[in-house]
Amino acid sequence: MDSSSGLAWTNRFADLGPDFFTELPAQGLPDPHWVAQSPDCAQLLGLPADWAARPDALAAMSGNTPWPAMRPLASVYSGHQFGVWAGQLGDGRALWLGEVDTPAGPLELQLKGAGRTPYSRRGDGRAVLRSSIREFLCSEAMAALGVPTTRALCITGSRLPVIRESVETAAVVTRVAPSFIRFGHFEHFAHHDQLDALRRLANWFIAHHAPDCADAPEPVVALLRKVALQTADLVAHWQSVGFCHGVMNTDNMSMLGLTLDYGPFGFMDGFDPGHVCNHSDDRGRYAYARQPAVAFWNLHALAQALLPLLPIDTDQDAEASGERLLEAVEAYRDRFAGQMLARLRAKLGLEGEDGGDQALADDFLKLMAASRADFTQSFRRLSRALTQPEPLRDLFIDREALDAWLLRWRARVTPGAQARMLAVNPAVVLRNHLAEGAIRAAQQGDFTEIERLLKVLGRPFDEPALPSDAALPPDWASTLEVSCSS
Ligand code: AMP
Ligand code: MG
Repeated sequence: MDSSSGLAWTNRFADLGPDFFTELPAQGLPDPHWVAQSPDCAQLLGLPADWAARPDALAAMSGNTPWPAMRPLASVYSGHQFGVWAGQLGDGRALWLGEVDTPAGPLELQLKGAGRTPYSRRGDGRAVLRSSIREFLCSEAMAALGVPTTRALCITGSRLPVIRESVETAAVVTRVAPSFIRFGHFEHFAHHDQLDALRRLANWFIAHHAPDCADAPEPVVALLRKVALQTADLVAHWQSVGFCHGVMNTDNMSMLGLTLDYGPFGFMDGFDPGHVCNHSDDRGRYAYARQPAVAFWNLHALAQALLPLLPIDTDQDAEASGERLLEAVEAYRDRFAGQMLARLRAKLGLEGEDGGDQALADDFLKLMAASRADFTQSFRRLSRALTQPEPLRDLFIDREALDAWLLRWRARVTPGAQARMLAVNPAVVLRNHLAEGAIRAAQQGDFTEIERLLKVLGRPFDEPALPSDAALPPDWASTLEVSCSS
């Protein structure tokens, strides 16, 4: 038990040894202040409600004075960025503090933005207030939507200037997850032919984070299959809420199937399958409709990294090993298709399974795309369309086509659809302009909008008290650009 935090800490990642990380202290923020805290995340960790009021909490979360049991370290990983091998990356601005024991199992804490590490390359090790607010709000919003994600405990800020396209100020986000291990951690050791380290990492990960794979005939194949299935579930969930990650590089892919590394992400407003939320992604590699295929591609990169762990004593061994890994990755396809259809059925209020459901769902999405109808509002208004079709019709240009589709849909939905649909089609998601409002206020020193939005996003299926939180975006929202700059 750590007397400062009142929490029980361990650091099982540190047991892996120095091949995997560098221990180093955080570079704290000068004269830090609180920006935001998530009460839900604090509760998850077992922190008391008033934890942030204690004088050493701000010092710890801004990277200035760690709690005694914290053991900060930066891990090394590599990865494929935009489809190209990028070599060594690593925690260039994230520091692992250790794990907190909770009733739901150990949770790792990381500071993001607490200074340079041996993996910072040309970066400054900092995160700006703008991107920290986006990561904080979206982590907690995704959790409330039920989408697997890393969590965010708090943001601390400072007047410390940080140079991006313009001069901004520094902040530190504390993020929380059962594990921050990425596909890229495995790719790193495979690429450098560090077989022993690769094997240790796989064994360690299976022992602590995938114990159900330990007794399989080939634990590594079982692990890959598990990751493939979790990733399928995750991406189906993203697609179903119109979420675009923006930078699905293999170093941003969680081995636990969590949404990880919130940068230039976005929730779509008007539905466009080719929507690219990241202004830096000029070829549209990570467009909304490509996310499922990109995840599949990334899983192949992971399979490649795990290959050296399987028998290769003879040519036949090697070929069979490769096939078993590919088969494990292949499990992604059916799982994704099944999960996606299940989510679409739920979004349309359909019970049971009918052979025409996929076409019914696809046709609605096509109509939405043709009208660039708002993604979130289309499903929300459809939820009430049995009794009030007009608000839905208002979103569409070709209303005859919509009416024809509604006839098919009415013939298929069952009683009680409205309540079921309202429970899965959110009213409020973190649209760019909502985040932007909180950011602009915070940059003027007013953090109340972050707190207010956090509460609203915490109940995404309820109609918000302020209708504008759920409403179609204002015109200025279309001028907002998000990029890799964070
Ligand atoms: P990202 O695109 O945010 O996933 O980051 C890719 C790599 O760049 C990771 O290794 C990050 O740690 C590193 N990185 C990003 N921004 C910075 C920064 N400001 N300082 C140091 N490293 C950074
Ligand atoms: Mg990253």
